[in-house]
Amino acid sequence: MEIKRYYTLNQELRKVFGEKVVKLSLDAGFTCPNRDGNIGKRGCIFCGEKGGGEFAGSRIQSIEEQIEQQKKLLSKKWKANSYIAYFQSFTNTYAPIEKLRKIYWQALNIKGMVGLAIATRPDCLSDEVLSLLEQLNQKTFLWIELGLQSIHFKTEKFIRRGYPLSVYNQAIEELKKRKIRVVTHLIMGLPYETKEEMLKSIEAVAYTDTWGIKLHSLYIQKGTDLYKYYLKNPFPLLSKQEYINIVVDGIELLPKAMVVHRVTGDGEKELLYTPKWSSDKRSVLNGIDQELNRRNTYQGIRFH
Ligand code: SF4
Repeated sequence: MEIKRYYTLNQELRKVFGEKVVKLSLDAGFTCPNRDGNIGKRGCIFCGEKGGGEFAGSRIQSIEEQIEQQKKLLSKKWKANSYIAYFQSFTNTYAPIEKLRKIYWQALNIKGMVGLAIATRPDCLSDEVLSLLEQLNQKTFLWIELGLQSIHFKTEKFIRRGYPLSVYNQAIEELKKRKIRVVTHLIMGLPYETKEEMLKSIEAVAYTDTWGIKLHSLYIQKGTDLYKYYLKNPFPLLSKQEYINIVVDGIELLPKAMVVHRVTGDGEKELLYTPKWSSDKRSVLNGIDQELNRRNTYQGIRFH
């Protein structure tokens, strides 16, 4: 069996649970302060109608129904008895605390659920939310995903992220204090960033001493503000090979134990405008493995 040259979520979950664990993507009906007018009205420039949860369940169904449906759907692909409830769409800590408590427990009480993954913004982690997460963390396998995308100020403004880097830094300190696992989401190929700038973002996450990282390439979905911008101002996009090279450089920079949750994008095929290569997940993953083999390199080789 070929050895993976980077440390994947699948490997980590097998190590922790001793078996295959499947993530079920849920839409708990939340919104986002960057879309409802609290911070911004139009959201991040690339944000689609489903707030990053293109493959999540449907918000008109209950959490239980979504879980059952996702289990059924994924059972065609994986044989598993253990699951992680992944609150993926929009900002999953942005609701009154009692509602959050109820929703998380609803998921956790379902048979076979061994953990929770919660995607949110670092500016949506109040003290009471942090206390709830701390309690959950003592009961189950929990991780929090933070959408940082880039450490660079010009990009933060361009993508209308709506919070500065200092808020992310503070949030990870608060989560780390409570021993809660943190995964940072970064996008490679954001407009007008150089390769060096992208790698700086990866390097910054590498040194946070947190649990995991997610990488994907920028893709433009029809209907988003980024799509409208691109039609008027077509900026350079990464080619598949450029993206592969950046990911491999990035993997080298990460500490060996950092869990690499993802190295490809996850857009919906019908909504994808460009680049088309980003929807061919298998070929991107193979390309990354081939490049790692070609260089005879692996995760952590350039982490000091
Ligand atoms: S934080 Fe997430 S849900 Fe909110 S606007 Fe940005 S991408 Fe969309």
